[in-house]
Amino acid sequence: MRVHNFSAGPAAMPLDVLEQAASEMSDWGSSGMSVMEVSHRSKEFVAAAEEAEALLRELLAVPDDYRVLFLQGGATGQFAGIPLNLSAEGDTVDYVNTGAWSKKAIAEAKKYATVNVVADESASNYSTTPDPAAVRPSQGSAYLHYTPNETIGGVEFGYVPDTGDVPLVADMSSTILSRPIEVSKFGLIYGGAQKNMGPAGLCLVVVRDDLVGRARPQTPSVWDYRAMAEAGSMLNTPPTFGIYLLGLILRWLKGQGGLAAMGERNRAKAEKLYAAIDGSPFYRNPVSPDARSWMNVPFILADDSLDKTFLAQAAEAGLTNLAGHRSVGGMRASIYNAMPMEGVDALIDFMKEFERANG
Ligand SMILES: *Cc1c(COP(=O)(O)O)cnc(C)c1O
Repeated sequence: MRVHNFSAGPAAMPLDVLEQAASEMSDWGSSGMSVMEVSHRSKEFVAAAEEAEALLRELLAVPDDYRVLFLQGGATGQFAGIPLNLSAEGDTVDYVNTGAWSKKAIAEAKKYATVNVVADESASNYSTTPDPAAVRPSQGSAYLHYTPNETIGGVEFGYVPDTGDVPLVADMSSTILSRPIEVSKFGLIYGGAQKNMGPAGLCLVVVRDDLVGRARPQTPSVWDYRAMAEAGSMLNTPPTFGIYLLGLILRWLKGQGGLAAMGERNRAKAEKLYAAIDGSPFYRNPVSPDARSWMNVPFILADDSLDKTFLAQAAEAGLTNLAGHRSVGGMRASIYNAMPMEGVDALIDFMKEFERANG
């Protein structure tokens, strides 16, 4: 029996995708092998990777002057890959600090560049996003980095910062493909796949051409954007199963009506869940209403001595992985693309019932 899996990542995947992968697990495309067993340089696999890239370009409306790279090392690898590729020794780079993932990106960038934190939301205990006017690059900055969706805090930007000529870099790990975006506003977009794009092990980078070819000499080749672009992301053996599953997920997304339809669905799911939380004194979401994430919805119980019981009874009801991140506690419901409205409805019903029994 499938549960409703509210994990923040690795996260739930569409059942249709899992069933298709299962049906061709031992014989992919009449090769007599699984997709994991074919050469990454075979024409069949190269075609699958090309289809995944083409679908991604179509769904995200990626302009022609951007490269799409399939890398490894996760978003965390890119915390180093970005300063190594986009800044020179001694450069200043700008970062916005909106919570846990911003902080990790900042700590890593400090190994390679002078980090200037242009906006910092610690005063609100990371329950807000900065005023758009505050997100301005500093003089001579190589790029400005921000985290559009903070997966742990459940804080999401309702706007795209305007950085003028300074390239805007976005860690979209937990928001990519959740709605349409205007790629041309960004110099670089990246994300680990395991939230909205497939299994762990694949990291996506979408980077504008003028930012490719500037890597510092000591950059590992597998993270050198030019080397990887020239090799079609196959400088070494790529995460073939992850690329294949990304392709299936993108086909599924297209079948669902693409990102505009998905965005409407995600908005409706989030609104319903926040309304249920706000409508009860028993539950509370600490995030400022204009900064609430559509993807990760943290909430706390008025009486935190009930947390364990809540989680245990939820799991019994088939609602799993609702514990908040270990650094913050409480609850967190991650409701990425693969979480249907029925899952959100089931959670809300459970929350109401739990409140009735314990309130
Ligand atoms: C999950 C996550 C990461 C880390 O991704 P890895 O692929 O595990 O390195 C980084 N940033 C954000 C916003 C995330 O949600």
